[in-house]
Amino acid sequence: MPTKDPIKKAANQRRRYWRNRAKALARKARYREKHKEEIRVRNEKYRAENRDEINRRHRAKPKKGRAAHQLRFPLELLFPEFFREYRRDMQYRTLYKITAAEFDAKKAEQGNRCATCRRSFDEVRAVADHNRRTGKFRAVLCDSCNLAIGHAYEKPGTLRALASYIQTA
Ligand SMILES: [Zn+2]
Repeated sequence: MPTKDPIKKAANQRRRYWRNRAKALARKARYREKHKEEIRVRNEKYRAENRDEINRRHRAKPKKGRAAHQLRFPLELLFPEFFREYRRDMQYRTLYKITAAEFDAKKAEQGNRCATCRRSFDEVRAVADHNRRTGKFRAVLCDSCNLAIGHAYEKPGTLRALASYIQTA
């Protein structure tokens, strides 16, 4: 039954997209291959007929990048540290539902080392590991350990099987 919840709706759409992605891409590729010449002629004709409009659109495109951002947010130029910290905090809050301070405290509690492989965060990137199902923040891990868990779909059985598997040879 279709849901009204916008978050669930987006999730459903995403699932549907990924389920049918390979098929849809293949269908598109087949179409493009079959109608190659026709598409080329059509595009050329469109470009020739709309040259001015296309050029105007390109010129009017807002500039991207750091300079443009700073023009729009001049306060960031005056207080760069404050805004860097603010953005970091917002990132942790939206991604992991923790504050940057909580992340830092956990990291310090772990002696600035990955909670699983114990490598120092001076050498490896620190990321907040969280339970994918509950969204709960678990610990600060290095990038590799966090990815390893994710690639095994957070299944302890798979991770245990992998551990014994690599000891067989
Ligand atoms: Zn690690």
